[in-house]
Amino acid sequence: MIGGSCCCGAVKFQLLAEPSMIGTCHCSRCRKVGASTIVFVKKDDLKWIQGQDYVRLFEPTSPYKYGRCFCKNCGTSLGEILSEADSFPIAANALDGGLDLKNQFHEFVAEKPSWYEICDNAKQFDGHPVSS
Ligand SMILES: [Zn+2]
Ligand SMILES: [Zn+2]
Repeated sequence: MIGGSCCCGAVKFQLLAEPSMIGTCHCSRCRKVGASTIVFVKKDDLKWIQGQDYVRLFEPTSPYKYGRCFCKNCGTSLGEILSEADSFPIAANALDGGLDLKNQFHEFVAEKPSWYEICDNAKQFDGHPVSS
């Protein structure tokens, strides 16, 4: 079981299973909300402990489709943790400990800032990973 929480501790949750995938997004939106590395979790594997009412949603504006959640008290990025989808990304920064997974891909590398250097061998995509 994997614990997750925000910086101030108001939001606490658990993942009942290891996330299925982990990747890093270099787009300007993820960068500015401080949630570049994301893990994909199944809705059924997310167990809330407390603080769901502390989570606020930053609504997407066109052409973007996905909102970003954060703790209203401390601002910790939480990804799409309120999503109703079967599987969705949450911010890896909110997890309390490590994972067996290592970063598997980089997306939106075309928007990567010059000060960030990719230092792993994970697959790179200029934009969204091409789904196959
Ligand atoms: Zn918080
Ligand atoms: Zn992004």
